[in-house]
Amino acid sequence: MVKNAVRQILELQKQVEVVKNQCAITKEAALQELRIQMESEKKEALSACRLEAQVALSRALLEAKSEKEAAVQQAIEQSRQEMEEKINSLVADKVEITKRCANCDREAFSECTGCHHVFYCSAFCQRRDWINHKDHCGENILDADCAELIDSCDDPTS
Ligand SMILES: [Zn+2]
Ligand SMILES: [Zn+2]
Repeated sequence: MVKNAVRQILELQKQVEVVKNQCAITKEAALQELRIQMESEKKEALSACRLEAQVALSRALLEAKSEKEAAVQQAIEQSRQEMEEKINSLVADKVEITKRCANCDREAFSECTGCHHVFYCSAFCQRRDWINHKDHCGENILDADCAELIDSCDDPTS
């Protein structure tokens, strides 16, 4: 009898233990579930936060881009102007360079006073070239005074 009672008690204790274990497992599972739920909520909150940040970032980037584009446009415009100036000065230089002595091809400092179309580095070269130039002097002048000019275009060095 006593043995039976002890066994029953032991059995009961075992059952209590089992229930306790089950309870612990259930609790653990509930906690786990709660943890998962919280985790997913956290994730959602995080992703929402991230999305917001992305939107803000892309907006900022867009603003920066349009600012940058304006700056780039300005830089392009500026360099275009600089290029134009450079080209103009180069063209001017070339015009300068074309002023070469008709006799010796060195840089010319004076022009034929008869026609203003040929240039000379010196009176010496002008004198030397006059024998060739006198037939062409005034050729390019096509106004009414042409003949008169040609007539008056004697040796300008004499
Ligand atoms: Zn010369
Ligand atoms: Zn001339």
